[in-house]
Amino acid sequence: MRIPIIAGNWKMNKTVSEARELVSEFIPLVKEMNKAEIVLCPPSSALLPVAALLEGTAIKLGAQNMHWESGGAYTGELAPAMVSEFANFVILGHSERRAYFGETDETVNKKVKAAQSEGIMPIICVGESLEENKADKTSEVVTRQIKEGLKDVNTNLVIAYEPIWAIGTGLAATADGANSTIKIIRSVLAELFGKEEAEKIRILYGGSVKGSNAVEYFSQSDIDGALVGGASLKADAFTEIVLAAQN
Ligand code: PEP
Repeated sequence: MRIPIIAGNWKMNKTVSEARELVSEFIPLVKEMNKAEIVLCPPSSALLPVAALLEGTAIKLGAQNMHWESGGAYTGELAPAMVSEFANFVILGHSERRAYFGETDETVNKKVKAAQSEGIMPIICVGESLEENKADKTSEVVTRQIKEGLKDVNTNLVIAYEPIWAIGTGLAATADGANSTIKIIRSVLAELFGKEEAEKIRILYGGSVKGSNAVEYFSQSDIDGALVGGASLKADAFTEIVLAAQN
């Protein structure tokens, strides 16, 4: 049985005081909801204050990115050991990082290795663009991203399938369509790690998930939760998604 994960990617949103307000409102709403692992991924500036608020709760903390080097002259970056001081998870290879910050399958691979050796659980994002989707290249793209991004790593990882055209657009993938691509991803994981191990890896769907469509995703055979952007910025909207994962 794979325990679902509901992860909230706040992206570049929330000052420290806004983060505190959101988390303080959210904690009591999900106190009794223990069927899914909840992960909050605030911007770096709010990691420490959010970590303090989450102490004593079951809610986990994630970073949105990190460097693979252990330290040195990398202005603006966080090293794995810095992230692991607060966070249990790190999002790697998000499509926005691939599109705007030059992230490649190769850098994702270096970061996955660095996260695993630091004991941080990576949430590795893969997904096709609209053009690739229209050209029937989804399977080819996610297969390449998984094979290249996961070279020589172990199975302590989570995958998020996020079709780029569904992120922040309101154009969510159909639950059935997302499940089919996630099955392809799981078969690639089976090639890399063996079938039994692949069955244990959590694969999330991400792309315009909200309270009203979450149940449909979570009732699919291979979707093990969600990586949520927009709807994670409001306590009640994010709670609805966590609630959908309870059943
Ligand atoms: C994301 O940023 O990973 C995401 C899925 O965003 P949204 O839920 O807003 O589509």
